Amino acid sequence: MKRLKEKILGGLYGQALGDAWGMPAYFDPDQTWDAYGGWIEGFLPGPDDHEVHQGLPAGRITDDSEQAFSLARAYIAHGGVTLEATVEAIVDWYDRTGGDTSKYVGPSTRRGVQALKRGEDPHTTGRMGDTNGAAMRVSPVGLLHPGDPMGAIEDAVISCIPTHGTNVAISGACAVAAAIAVALMDDATIDAVVAAGLLGAELGRQRGNPWLGASVTRRIEMAVSIARSSSDARARLRSMYDIVGTSLAMPETVGSAFGVFVMADGDPQQAAIYAANLSGDADTVGAIACAIAGAYSGIEAIPQAIIDTLNQDEIMAQYDVPALAEGIYAQAVKR
Ligand SMILES: [Mg+2]
Repeated sequence: MKRLKEKILGGLYGQALGDAWGMPAYFDPDQTWDAYGGWIEGFLPGPDDHEVHQGLPAGRITDDSEQAFSLARAYIAHGGVTLEATVEAIVDWYDRTGGDTSKYVGPSTRRGVQALKRGEDPHTTGRMGDTNGAAMRVSPVGLLHPGDPMGAIEDAVISCIPTHGTNVAISGACAVAAAIAVALMDDATIDAVVAAGLLGAELGRQRGNPWLGASVTRRIEMAVSIARSSSDARARLRSMYDIVGTSLAMPETVGSAFGVFVMADGDPQQAAIYAANLSGDADTVGAIACAIAGAYSGIEAIPQAIIDTLNQDEIMAQYDVPALAEGIYAQAVKR
C-alpha cells in the first residue's frame, strides 16, 4: 500500500478534526444553525450554555480522541491489541482526566471502569455497556489492520470487552474498525468502505452479551440512503437526525457517522462540517466519520491550517500524534 503512512496519519488527524469541530455543536440541528447563523466552518469554543462542552477552547479534542490516542499508545507499547492493554489505557485515561467527577465520561465507560477498579474480571465488567464509547475510540484498531477487515473485527471485539461487552456496542465498534481497515487500501472506494462497515456490524452483532438495541447494519443502510437522496444538504441532515438519530445509542451514532462519510464523499473537512450541523453527539459522530474519511483520503486532504490548530492545543500535544502514526505503521507492516 503506497500511501499507507499518509492514510494512517489522516485517520488519526481525522479523528481529532471531527471531534474538535463538532464539540461546540448543540443537541438539535436547529439550535446549532441558529446559534452560528448557518454551517460551522471552523474551530469554535464550547459555548457558555452548552451542557457538556461549556468553557472548552476552540480546537480542543474531547474524550473520543483522548481515548483513541490512549489506546493507540497502549497497543503500540504492548505490540498489539490485548485485553490488558485496553484496560490499562482506559483506566489510565479515566484517572488522568479526573474521571470520577468529569462530565466527559460516558455511562458505559464509567460503569466499566468503576467495576474494574473494584477488582472485577475485565471479561464481564463491560457486560451491560451499550453506548457509543466503544466506536468513538476504535479507530486505531482499524488503522492497525490495513486491507484486513476480519483482523480489525477480531481486535475491535477485544477493545470493547472491558467497558462495552454487549452485542450492540461490539457491532458498532466492529463496523468502524472494518471500514477503516478497508479505507486504508490504495484502491478503496466509498462503496467498499460502507460494505466493510456493514460486514463488521453484522459479524460484531454475533459477539458479546446479547442486549437490547436496534440493528447497526440497518441504521447504516438507512443513513447512507438518506445521504444519497436528492434533497439539499441541510434537509438530508435533518432527516438523518430525526430518523437515524445522533444520541449516545450505538446504532444511531454509527449509522449517522457512515451517513456523514458518504454525504461528504469521503472528504474529512466536509464530513466535519456536516457532523457539526447534524448536532446531537456531534463530536462523536464527527470523530468517527472523519477518522474513516481521513483514512480514506489521507493526511493531504486535511488543510495544513487545521493540522496546525489541532497541534497547538495542549491536550492534543500530550499524545504526539505523528509518533503514534509511526508506531501504528511499524506494527501494521509487520503483520
Ligand atoms: Mg466527546
